[in-house]
Amino acid sequence: MEEGARSCLLQSRSSLEQDIRASYLMDHMISDGVLTGDEEDRIRSKPTRKEQAAALLELLLRKDNQAYISFYNALVRESYGDLASLLHNSLPLVSPEAEKSFSDGGTRYVQAVLSEGGVPQRPVVFVSRPALVNRVREKLYRLQKEPGWVTVFGMAGSGKSVLAAEAVRDHALITECFPGGVHWLSVGQLDRSDLLVRIQSLCFRLEQQSQEKDPSSSLHRPPGSLEEAKERLRFLMLRRYPRSLLILDDIWDSSVLKAFDIQCRVLLTTRDRSLADCVSGSKSEVAVESGLEEDQALEILALYVNGKPQRLPEQARSIVRECKGSPLVVSLIGALLREFPDRWAYYLHTLQQKKFKRIRKSSSYDYDALDQAMAASIQVLSEEHRELYIDLTVLEKDVKVPAKVLSVLWDLEPEEVEDVLQDFVNKSLLFRDCHHRPYLYYLHDLQLDFLAEMNRSGLESLHTKVVCQYQQRYSQGPPTSGDEECLYWFRFLTYHMAKANLTQELCSLMFSLDWVRTKAQIMGPAHLINDYVEYGTILDKEVRGHFQEFLSLNGHQLEQRPFPDVVQLALSQPDSSEVYRQALLQAQERATRG
Ligand code: ADP
Repeated sequence: MEEGARSCLLQSRSSLEQDIRASYLMDHMISDGVLTGDEEDRIRSKPTRKEQAAALLELLLRKDNQAYISFYNALVRESYGDLASLLHNSLPLVSPEAEKSFSDGGTRYVQAVLSEGGVPQRPVVFVSRPALVNRVREKLYRLQKEPGWVTVFGMAGSGKSVLAAEAVRDHALITECFPGGVHWLSVGQLDRSDLLVRIQSLCFRLEQQSQEKDPSSSLHRPPGSLEEAKERLRFLMLRRYPRSLLILDDIWDSSVLKAFDIQCRVLLTTRDRSLADCVSGSKSEVAVESGLEEDQALEILALYVNGKPQRLPEQARSIVRECKGSPLVVSLIGALLREFPDRWAYYLHTLQQKKFKRIRKSSSYDYDALDQAMAASIQVLSEEHRELYIDLTVLEKDVKVPAKVLSVLWDLEPEEVEDVLQDFVNKSLLFRDCHHRPYLYYLHDLQLDFLAEMNRSGLESLHTKVVCQYQQRYSQGPPTSGDEECLYWFRFLTYHMAKANLTQELCSLMFSLDWVRTKAQIMGPAHLINDYVEYGTILDKEVRGHFQEFLSLNGHQLEQRPFPDVVQLALSQPDSSEVYRQALLQAQERATRG
């Protein structure tokens, strides 16, 4: 093993010993061929978890670069993202560097491209669906010479996103068809202003990366309207990222798709097969069956319990049949079984009982199995963690949150929050996006549906809790740093207030010039304008009019950097306006302060 890697292992040794479960990691290392069965037995014979961890590290230090890489990959797969990041910078270069295959089918080069483009990693437990992956790759090859669209469609939870990410994890495909890179955008259900913000951040990401490569290119101010955003993206894709692939994950609405109708190469996942009808260019599609083949579903269960599919008890097949092979449900049940390996009959019975009937049935999914699996997974949480999990009901779909937001909501130290979240992630009750630092956490939208249904009568008080916790934490004034946590509050505080029916609080927040200034400075005016429209019926009509007028007259100024003096802008409003009144007060205060 090269010096840098060994030194990094030694430095991280105590953190690794503290946390890792060697038995989980060794399976991956054995299948990568860097650990033998005998070595595994020797490590397993140590009496405690910690001693096993220490023995594995001791052994690893005597092995080669490939073993280090395999160990790193195993950490990533087993959701030890924090520990993996300790080792990341010292990953040895394998030779010939970019060609050597990793066990997940990618190469170092592929990993770098996908990670730069924000493509999600494989789930912790993963089975390959080679026929499907090949079908998608074959369609993607058609985009080699010309722009166009590939639609991957299927039911919720059928594994479309995992499949899309898997399809591009291929050295030849990327080098031959998409040398400009692969850029992932999670879309979900959005309104126009949300869409604008998503495209703004995509453009920002693309510009930033291109500036790192070419410092002479400049960063622009964020596009102010959807039309402008579409043009900016068109320019970026054409000039700076020719022959790149844009992956749009979970599109619901054709109007959203139209914003990306810019003559580029797009892979989209959706439940609605006909979405691409509204855009121009060549098109092809791949259908994803709702369930996995029985063998694959059994393989998932086997991976969770560290066993062989042939050795699974007879109930395993029935579990797979009961949930029709849904990848999402099988993963939930598998995660439960990892913790309670004797409960096969019990979980089968839970699935069969169908006692938890949801009122609203979606046409696109048989929810019963998911409900049972979710109910069972939540049941095994400790009471304390169960309450915390229920708090997640208030999250909006497709929104990823950093742990710090939950630290406010739960009033817990960030480290404690990380521990709780790790528990949820291990149980497949929550997903983690490791591409961001800090990590972001999110629920599958079927899980959010389930939580919303389960807590229908308590929704208002759950939202009230969010608002109260926020007010308590930020009693001295709103956060101002512009980090992920702060963005969350600026984006969603009004939403939580409205859902909590806290009309008074909502009015005083939205009719505050300070709030307007800080939110516009951090997020641009589009979201603010949208808030007044969205909560229009709740807010006082006259004062709302004052703020809307101010924003519509000054929106373009509020996009400028350096950021203008909002008090000065507001002083040019008519003196009957609430905006003017507040600006005058602030101007007078400034004057007395000198
Ligand atoms: P969709 O995009 O169709 O809603 P996802 O791709 O998000 O579905 O998959 C839902 C969940 O199912 C994943 O989070 C993962 O737990 C599980 N899953 C999907 N595909 C696989 C796979 N190939 N191997 C293992 N688990 C999978």
